[in-house]
Amino acid sequence: MTRLLVAGETLIDFVPEGHGALDAVETFHRRAGGAPANVAVGLARLEEPPLFWTRVGDGPFGDYLVRTLAEAGVREDLIERDPDADTTLVFVSLDPDADRSFSFHRNGTADTRMRPGSVDDDVLADVEWVHAGGVVLADEPSRTATFDLLSRANEVEDAVVSFDPNARPELFEGTDFVDTCRRAFDLADVVKATAEDLVAAGITDPTAGDGDAAELARAVCDLGPHTALLTRGPDGALARSTPDAPWNPTDEPIVVEHGGYPVDPVDTTGAGDAFTAGAIAALSAGESVQEALAFANAVAARSTTAKGAMTALPTRSEVESFRDAHGSA
Ligand code: ATP
Repeated sequence: MTRLLVAGETLIDFVPEGHGALDAVETFHRRAGGAPANVAVGLARLEEPPLFWTRVGDGPFGDYLVRTLAEAGVREDLIERDPDADTTLVFVSLDPDADRSFSFHRNGTADTRMRPGSVDDDVLADVEWVHAGGVVLADEPSRTATFDLLSRANEVEDAVVSFDPNARPELFEGTDFVDTCRRAFDLADVVKATAEDLVAAGITDPTAGDGDAAELARAVCDLGPHTALLTRGPDGALARSTPDAPWNPTDEPIVVEHGGYPVDPVDTTGAGDAFTAGAIAALSAGESVQEALAFANAVAARSTTAKGAMTALPTRSEVESFRDAHGSA
């Protein structure tokens, strides 16, 4: 039985060779990407190969993604091919501080055409954790399809539903990103986010900056989820869980922090997705929130020490060695 199901986009990132504005870049490297795809591959590397519900075009870019995901160990059962749509492409540019800008080419692409009801009830009935990202909520029919999946997963006894807004409000043209997040938070048991995601989701006043992570986590839980996982870059992460969470054995909300691991990062792209994979792997295996935060921070910090988002996702033994080298804290 596969315990985990991830849903959302996979796409091709064209990563520039060198820095500079997009109009000046001549050479790009092709990389498999998409936040949910990174989470799926992260779980596979941690020996928890998930089902991954996504949709790609029928052409060579789709072939490349299907092959890459399969080679990484992701289950292919729910990967759809669309004969009438292309695969999403994203061109990335890096400014001199390595901050990234993205140019999305996803007008009517295959991932926006994920359809409601594609995941059968009998598949869902066996799943213990369903994770989705926010990008596919920007378009129809993938928006309705994803909300349909999250609603049905909510009805599955003991299944955990998690959501990462992956805030890209610029992709939301016909729909409101703030309303969309509220609806997704209402269906989720666990929300993983950064302070920037929550500002974009209207959870905090943009002028408040990074805000107080514990307050932000409380604000997330006030919207429905029993657990908020807030990542803080090099400073690690904070979790809040209400007594509804299976990993909170007390009668009160618990707040747990882990300060992360000091590394010399080479590339932080996808660190948040690595964290999500680590947190899902640990919590779904019955670990405590404290251990889940430590493990997820280790997966994420280790992922920043190599180039690429998907290629840098560590195996379980690489995470164990990394933690040993850092005193297992
Ligand atoms: P991304 O958008 O790059 O995927 P994110 O913005 O979603 O990441 P962050 O909070 O920046 O999320 O990072 C996620 C996790 O990655 C952190 O909680 C931490 O464990 C790890 N991490 C990120 N940057 C660093 C760093 N410079 N040093 C050590 N760990 C880091």
